[in-house]
Amino acid sequence: MTQHVQAIVIGGGIVGTSVLYSLAQRGWTDTVLLEKRNLTSGSTWHAAGNVTFFGHYTAITDLYINSVKTYLAASEESGHDIGFHPTGSLRLANTAEELEAYKSIAPVYDRLDADYRVIGPDEAAEVHPLLETKDLHGAAHTPGDGHVDPSGATHALAKAARQRGAHIQVQTPALAIRQNGQEWQVETETETFFADHVVVATSFWAREMLAPLGINLPIYPVQHHEIITGTVPALQALDFEVPAVRDPYAPSNTRQERDGFLCGVYEVDPQFWATDGIPPEFAEELLVPDVERLEPELLRVIERIPAFGEAGFKTINNGPIAYAPDGLPMLGPVESHPGLWLATAFNIGIGTGGGSAQFLSEWMVNGHAPYDLSMVYPSRFANDISKETALAQIHATYAKGYIMPGAPA
Ligand SMILES: Cc1cc2nc3c(=O)[nH]c(=O)nc-3n(C[C@H](O)[C@H](O)[C@H](O)COP(=O)(O)OP(=O)(O)OC[C@H]3O[C@@H](n4cnc5c(N)ncnc54)[C@H](O)[C@@H]3O)c2cc1C
Repeated sequence: MTQHVQAIVIGGGIVGTSVLYSLAQRGWTDTVLLEKRNLTSGSTWHAAGNVTFFGHYTAITDLYINSVKTYLAASEESGHDIGFHPTGSLRLANTAEELEAYKSIAPVYDRLDADYRVIGPDEAAEVHPLLETKDLHGAAHTPGDGHVDPSGATHALAKAARQRGAHIQVQTPALAIRQNGQEWQVETETETFFADHVVVATSFWAREMLAPLGINLPIYPVQHHEIITGTVPALQALDFEVPAVRDPYAPSNTRQERDGFLCGVYEVDPQFWATDGIPPEFAEELLVPDVERLEPELLRVIERIPAFGEAGFKTINNGPIAYAPDGLPMLGPVESHPGLWLATAFNIGIGTGGGSAQFLSEWMVNGHAPYDLSMVYPSRFANDISKETALAQIHATYAKGYIMPGAPA
C-alpha cells in the first residue's frame, strides 16, 4: 500500500508529538507520525518532567518558555491533563561571578515576558526552607516553571494533533528512508509513504537511521541517573511544594516528588551507552543503576539539601539520554538533503521539545527560520566529525552540568 502525505514525523516521544501538533496548529494536517513501539517508549516515559525557564544559553530561553506554553495549549485543546506543577525553580549562585552572570541575563526575560528574579540567600531560604544557604551568594528564581508529567504531555499533544486531523501510527517502525527526486519515501513493514517533508525525531536512534543516506550525526547516548527518596517529614510538613533546585556546585537538579525528593545527577565522569549501535530490541527499558559512582555528586547535594540524605533512596533510575557534542539539540533542515528535517539530540527534551517544535514547524511552513538560532542547526557540525571527537566533546559537555557556558569547570 502507498500513501502520499505532506509531512512524515518519525518518533513518538515528546519531541515528535510536539512537531506533529505544532504543524497541525499551522494548518499542516496531511501528516502522519510513525512510532515503532508506543508513544513515549524512548526516553520520554522515564523523564523527571522538569521544565525550567533557565536555559544554558539565553538565545534559546524562548524554546524553554514556549515548551510549557505548547503543552498547556495542547492540554486545553484536548482536555488531557499534563500534570503541570508550577513550583518555580532556583538556579543557585555559589560565587559572586555566578550571581552577576544571572543578573546580566534579566533583560532576556523582560523581552519574553516571563518572571525572573535574582534573589539573595535569605529570600532563597524563604522560597525553599530545606535549602542550606550558608555560603550561598543567591539564586536566579523563575517562579513560573516547574515540572510536567512527560507522558501526560505527550498524550495531550497527540490527542490535540489528531483532533486537528493529523494521523499517528504506533507499532510502525520506519524501516528505510529514501530520497526520490523531490520526494521522500519512508518504508514500513506494510506501507510506503511518500512525502514532501520528513522530520526525524528519533533521539539517539537518528544516527543509525540516517547513516545509509551518508549523513553522519554525532549523537550518542549518555547514562543519566535520577534518584527518588522516601518520605521527607520536613517536606510533608510544608503546605506548599518547594521549587526545583539546580546547582552548579552539586551538579544536579532536585525537586519535590510527592513527599520526597527527586534528584537528577550530572556525573563529572559520565558513562556512555551503546555507542556502537542501539540494541534493536531496546525500548521502555532502564539501564543498570550504579549509585556508588554518584557518591561525590550526591554528597554535595546533601550539603545543599541535608534532608535529601535523611530519607533513604526509594528508586534509582538510570536511563539513556541523547547528546550532541555541545549538548544542544539538532534542530532544522539537513542542508544536503532538502525536505529532510531533524528534531533530535534532545537531552532536555521535556524542557525544550515544545518550543523547539514551534520553531521548526514555523520554518517548515513558512520556508524560512522564524529568527536566527544557528547554535541548534544541524549544519553546525561537519559531516566528517569522528566518533572519538564527538564522544570526547560530549563527555566534557555533560560533565559541566549546570556551570554557565564560558565559566571555568
Ligand atoms: C533519568 C532521566 C531523567 C530525565 N529528566 C528530564 C527532565 O526532567 N526534563 C527534561 O527536559 N528532560 C529529561 N530527560 C531527558 C528526556 O527524557 C529526553 O530529552 C526526551 O525524552 C527526548 O525526547 P525525544 O522525543 O527526543 O526522544 P524519545 O522519547 O526517545 O523518542 C524517540 C522515539 O523514536 C522512536 N523510534 C526510534 N526509531 C524509530 C523508527 N525506526 N521508527 C519509528 N519510531 C522510532 C522511539 O521508539 C521513541 O519513542 C531525562 C532523561 C533521563 C534518562
